[in-house]
Amino acid sequence: MNVAAILKGKGRAVATARPETLLQAIVEKLTAKRIGAIVIVGANGAVGGIISERDIIRAVAERGAASLQQPVSEFMTRQVVICSEADTLDQLMATMTAGRFRHIPVVEDGALVGIVSIGDVVKHHIAEVEMEASALRTYLLAG
Ligand code: AMP
Repeated sequence: MNVAAILKGKGRAVATARPETLLQAIVEKLTAKRIGAIVIVGANGAVGGIISERDIIRAVAERGAASLQQPVSEFMTRQVVICSEADTLDQLMATMTAGRFRHIPVVEDGALVGIVSIGDVVKHHIAEVEMEASALRTYLLAG
């Protein structure tokens, strides 16, 4: 199972915003879309950062509610770890575990083509494990 197969199932839509977007608008978008992170893109569409609910919790804890009136660029993570469509489920799980984050944008030839969350990873991992168990049961019963 690779990233291309995951995107085939979930689609390629990615919630994005520009760096100058106020944090308040980011909070509203996260809530409306029921998601945990938004990819921040520059004028050319290139990935410039990522903001997740964790960043917003930290911003409010450290700088108070006034941070909601600041641009998201103040609080986003700038060094974004990305993946490509050829990457495997196992690679994504290892990257998320090592980096302690739950979202990975998918980039091909510099263009944002999707995003994979830990929810997608867990869902496909469970499906893979169930398929393996079913194949093993069939094999044992045939013997
Ligand atoms: P998350 O677990 O996705 O809510 O993110 C936890 C922290 O990691 C936050 O500070 C995010 O900005 C950051 N983060 C999320 N995804 C990535 C990523 N793909 N690359 C680098 N940092 C990330």
